[in-house]
Amino acid sequence: MQKPQQFTGKVAEHILINNKFQYLHIELTHPFRLEFEAGQYVSFAIGGGERRSYSIASEPQIDSSIEVCVDVTPEGKGSSFLKSLKPGDEVSFLAPLGKFKVEDESKLLFVATGSGITPVRSMILDLLEYKKDPRQIQLHWGLRHVDDMFWVEHFRKFHEYYDNFTFHLTLSQPPEHWPLCAGYVTDCVRDELTLDSSWGVYLCGNKFMIDDATKLVTKMGVPPEQIHTEKFF
Ligand SMILES: Cc1cc2nc3c(=O)[nH]c(=O)nc-3n(C[C@H](O)[C@H](O)[C@H](O)COP(=O)(O)OP(=O)(O)OC[C@H]3O[C@@H](n4cnc5c(N)ncnc54)[C@H](O)[C@@H]3O)c2cc1C
Repeated sequence: MQKPQQFTGKVAEHILINNKFQYLHIELTHPFRLEFEAGQYVSFAIGGGERRSYSIASEPQIDSSIEVCVDVTPEGKGSSFLKSLKPGDEVSFLAPLGKFKVEDESKLLFVATGSGITPVRSMILDLLEYKKDPRQIQLHWGLRHVDDMFWVEHFRKFHEYYDNFTFHLTLSQPPEHWPLCAGYVTDCVRDELTLDSSWGVYLCGNKFMIDDATKLVTKMGVPPEQIHTEKFF
């Protein structure tokens, strides 16, 4: 794996997905190639000597650019910096960083909240589209409102196409007559899954979900060393 090094890149595309999430596609300008593992992140220089971490949403097979997905609602220095970027702007970041990556357990459960889906998207694209990995893979993703939804069609299509992949979306504040899971994403995992020591569990998002889900899957028999976490805040 490539050691962390300093990169510069140019914003190629900036999409306002909805009021909460924004997507950035950044072409590398120096060096031109980034070798990374699905699940890793970059650390952007955001001015004033400060840095913030953002996971790579794109798959490692694309090594000349990175995609990131930012929750802009914290409105602190990091999310405001990324929100302000326009096509053509230059950014600098340190990469690749982090140890959140897929291991060799026989079944895989991914649980994400909000922008915690970002490294999970990279992992799932890598596993299904490129590695044709035959393991059973389940994704549970928790968002708040219908208005926050994005990439849902993308995962639904994977669910239809790949026999070994299932996708569950949970809304914590659903509209009336919402037909899918409602409440905390961990409650839906509890209701829909029976786990055992053959599962690897990958949790990404806020501390509350990670603590809650860790307790749940531990109780269900998943050994601690098979619970992998990336805490965003
Ligand atoms: C390894 C790693 C990878 C990360 N990857 C991503 C990513 O892919 N996309 C992404 O949007 N963020 C990601 N984050 C979070 C990101 O680094 C920043 O913490 C976040 O953007 C807030 O930074 P800020 O400077 O805007 O706000 P700050 O001033 O640092 O924080 C403001 C407040 O917002 C809270 N907060 C931080 N993040 C969120 C959030 N997402 N939702 C609600 N409240 C929040 C903080 O706890 C704090 O109370 C990642 C964090 C880590 C550690």
